[in-house]
Amino acid sequence: MTSKNNPHDLRLQTLAVRAAVERSQYGENSEALYLTSGFVQPDAATSARRFAGEEEGYTYGRSSNPTVTSMEQRLAALEGSEAALATASGMSAIMLMCFSLLKSGDHVVFSRSLFGSTIKLIGSEFARFGVESTIVSQTDLTEWTAAIRPNTKLLFAETPTNPLTGVCDIAALADLAHNAGALLAVDNCFATPALQRPIDMGADIVMHSGTKYLDGQGRVMAGALCATERLVIDKLLPVQKNSGMVLSPFNAWVVLKGMETLDLRMRAQSAQAHALATWLETHPAVARVYYPALASHPQHALAMKQMSGVGGAVLSFDVKAGAPEQARARAFHVLDTLQTLSLCTNLGDTKTLLTHPASTSHGKLSPEQRAAAGIGQGLIRVAVGLEHLDDMKADLLRGLDTLK
Ligand SMILES: *Cc1c(COP(=O)(O)O)cnc(C)c1O
Repeated sequence: MTSKNNPHDLRLQTLAVRAAVERSQYGENSEALYLTSGFVQPDAATSARRFAGEEEGYTYGRSSNPTVTSMEQRLAALEGSEAALATASGMSAIMLMCFSLLKSGDHVVFSRSLFGSTIKLIGSEFARFGVESTIVSQTDLTEWTAAIRPNTKLLFAETPTNPLTGVCDIAALADLAHNAGALLAVDNCFATPALQRPIDMGADIVMHSGTKYLDGQGRVMAGALCATERLVIDKLLPVQKNSGMVLSPFNAWVVLKGMETLDLRMRAQSAQAHALATWLETHPAVARVYYPALASHPQHALAMKQMSGVGGAVLSFDVKAGAPEQARARAFHVLDTLQTLSLCTNLGDTKTLLTHPASTSHGKLSPEQRAAAGIGQGLIRVAVGLEHLDDMKADLLRGLDTLK
């Protein structure tokens, strides 16, 4: 689980293909997939020391597995964190974090633009156990500051957000959290460590849905938390062992291999997204484009500073509509005339995926909540993949040029 295997000060691109547990006695070059639930112990005394935590060594799949350790070491190396802990999904990573760090009477601050299930999990499910929360604006630091209370233990930020790519200031939130004696956790799904390293900016915990860009090819569910060794060993690991929110070795292996191309994919897909966003801004049927690398983005300067000058692979746009009632039908028309790209509520794939947030990810919000979140019926999210840019444009034009 720790990233002690960088003795030569290797760079991110090198660690992405090299960081892993040691080869087995067979000398395999591609990391081994250890599909086993239990581990045979060499002798009873060693077994006892391993169970007591006095000696490293594998015992049982709910505690750890070498393939999972490889994935954790590689992710920790990429995020620049001391350690990482893999979980069954992104949501289980958030569940593990909250379960490990919060108790009844504690208070959490997060933005209303957070991933929908995150808002439900912390704001509703954990509320049943007495965890309090305050929901603030994604971008207004004064709201975050005003929300801090003596019992605030955690600030949870996500940047850029889904689907409107709102950007918050990680370094400023880290200062705010630490002055209040709280921790800052950052959901780094959209930018990934290829573009943004929250730990370097002061964040205490980085959360991932490995389902997205870490796998990168839409194959498995996975999640992870990156943090200091102390936080992982003392707080997160014991709860994970007892609650079973572990990642399967097979899924860990898929994500491990996916991370080898993370940097290349993020740069290539971001370049395509930037080109597509720029082009969409000029189309007469498009009212507005949301993409951090566009000069029109409200937090453009901050985004470029925080995301290594790259905008990421997700953009959204509003289809122009005369009347609000038209907006949904027009967005549906664009989605229903696609022939190459996928209508699919996922992101982080090499295939371009389009969604209609107002009727899917944000469909359960009331009309007022949706309006407050800025998610209109004409909004389409595009998670840009690796198809040729001209084929993407042609597929979108089928609908955009035939709107009624
Ligand atoms: C998908 C996603 C999650 C949840 O991850 P799962 O792997 O689907 O559980 C959390 N945050 C963001 C930003 C996501 O895109």
